[in-house]
Amino acid sequence: MPPIPVFDGHNDVLLRLWMKTGCDPVADFLQGDGLGHLDLPRMKKGGFAGGFFAIFAPTDDEDLPDDDDVNPPLAVQIAQPTALRKTLEMASLLFRIERESKGKFKVCRTVAEIRDCLAKGVMTAIFHIEGAEAIDEGFKALDVLYEAGLRSMGPVWSRPNIYGHGVPFRFPSTGDTGEGLTEAGKSLIRYCNERHLLVDLSHLNEKGFWDVARLSTAPLVATHSNALAISPSSRNLSDDQLKAIRDTGGMVGLNFATGFLREDGRWRTDTALDIMVRHLDHLIKVAGENCVALGSDFDGARIPDGIKDAAGLPNLLAALHDRQYGEKLIAKIAHENWLNVLERIWV
Ligand code: ZN
Repeated sequence: MPPIPVFDGHNDVLLRLWMKTGCDPVADFLQGDGLGHLDLPRMKKGGFAGGFFAIFAPTDDEDLPDDDDVNPPLAVQIAQPTALRKTLEMASLLFRIERESKGKFKVCRTVAEIRDCLAKGVMTAIFHIEGAEAIDEGFKALDVLYEAGLRSMGPVWSRPNIYGHGVPFRFPSTGDTGEGLTEAGKSLIRYCNERHLLVDLSHLNEKGFWDVARLSTAPLVATHSNALAISPSSRNLSDDQLKAIRDTGGMVGLNFATGFLREDGRWRTDTALDIMVRHLDHLIKVAGENCVALGSDFDGARIPDGIKDAAGLPNLLAALHDRQYGEKLIAKIAHENWLNVLERIWV
């Protein structure tokens, strides 16, 4: 039996490929380099059918968070022209993958396109930016990104920018994470609503989350976050936030990052899959079974050895099966819920 298709809320493979030197990163992805978590052969093997491909512009490579540190220093801000250049370079990688895949990989702009690709076994990608540093305050260049296919954005990553404040990585969460959206941030949310761009709340701090909840006319979505009640990481969501997601018909994607799964916040990969099921149990209990999906953070975080990489996705679905999750619920979590909420947002 082929593996159950998984549509995923978050990966950082474009960053991984962009950082490679001395090779052709597009060929490496298409043929499989066996590094990190994602390449096309391993994705096909594990039933990874598509998802949000994040573009994250690092200040400098050495500023990427050190995964051994559960309380790393706040990331340094990045200048807009630099962020735009890096964003365009990573977006170019995405479109080169599409072109050179010869029909095996498609950047999708509508849910109809995604459904068609799922039916045909074509890998689908949503062009997503993680942190809006590349976008100038007057939105003078934003329409170009939209026309290129941008359909989802996190206004802020875990560093402040002109739109608001990201949540710093803190374990345990201090609950005190600064101010909410700026006026420019509010304008950005209005732009996203008008153009039906998905707004990703995963890295936004708590005040920012509630600012979006008040302002946005769209379902609330956190593409890759877990339950604060189980792992008290600042990156996770309180029950009140999960209820707000439920009340708007939104979505939370289970993050596979061990530091956001574990009760002790450690970045240990020898972490049993059971903790992932416990998060899903809680997310479903509070947000409801229509508002919970997956948001792996593949190629962006350390994940449990029991999954290891995209080829190991069936192990997670088997764990759900073992815990009496029925076929219908597994299909919802694996892909249907994401498609349904995108239908509500992209209209
Ligand atoms: Zn992230």
